[in-house]
Amino acid sequence: MTPRRGQLIVYDKAARALVNHVILPVPTATTKGVLVAPTVYGNVLLGPTAEDLHDRSATDTTADGLAFLLGHGRRILPELVGSEVTATYAGLRAATEHSDYCYAVFDRYVRVAGIRSTGISSCLAIAEQVCADLAEAGLAMTPIAAPRTVRMPNLAEDRLRPYADAALIARDPAYGDLVCLCERVSAGEVRDALASIIPARDVDGLRRRTRALAGRCQGFHCGARITQALDAS
Ligand SMILES: Cc1cc2nc3c(=O)[nH]c(=O)nc-3n(C[C@H](O)[C@H](O)[C@H](O)COP(=O)(O)OP(=O)(O)OC[C@H]3O[C@@H](n4cnc5c(N)ncnc54)[C@H](O)[C@@H]3O)c2cc1C
Repeated sequence: MTPRRGQLIVYDKAARALVNHVILPVPTATTKGVLVAPTVYGNVLLGPTAEDLHDRSATDTTADGLAFLLGHGRRILPELVGSEVTATYAGLRAATEHSDYCYAVFDRYVRVAGIRSTGISSCLAIAEQVCADLAEAGLAMTPIAAPRTVRMPNLAEDRLRPYADAALIARDPAYGDLVCLCERVSAGEVRDALASIIPARDVDGLRRRTRALAGRCQGFHCGARITQALDAS
């Protein structure tokens, strides 16, 4: 594996009015390039970079990486670059020396690796292929009789969030008790995330499931209450 780092800048929700669709440049041989994208949470993303590294723990953002992004941002949407930033982060794509996926079928198992930066879009098709190949290899593929469904709560701003749902709050006032003011996350949602089929077990898990701590203040306001809720669960 040769990690390919992608750094991104998350702009504040005030910048959301600047874009109404993804602005995607023409891709190169190695990357789809730096893009500007509105997020379902109401922020705007600028990124990512594409840096081939050897260090598999290098998930830091760097001054050079952010300067590179700002340079592209100035070209794509100059007004964005002057907007306020909520956070910066980096992730490592699972790249290899091969341009294609590393997909190989052996006697009783399938190796799937090096999916790079197409993991979300390709995962269902890859899963179907793996099932088909394992079935062909002779593995008994019996469907689970009554699978337990994991349902993500709605975190998107274009749909009704619990804090704005008067009927829901009337039924359960915990949805009207805001814990995270930046992302408007209620105590009811935190409670649900801690009691779900796949419960959050740490602050990071809770952040991903509810968006608490992911807003403008990055947990300055709600950090203590979130930690308290976790400790109590
Ligand atoms: C910069 C960048 C850009 C990308 N762009 C795209 C794109 O445009 N389109 C696309 O389709 N894909 C893209 N991808 C790829 C996509 O993000 C990944 O393929 C996808 O997120 C993989 O999903 P996953 O659930 O397998 O792993 P992850 O999303 O990595 O989730 C794994 C989770 O497990 C947690 N975890 C790890 N170890 C432990 C442990 N021991 N205990 C508990 N939890 C643990 C991690 O914290 C993480 O939350 C991109 C990736 C990067 C880095």
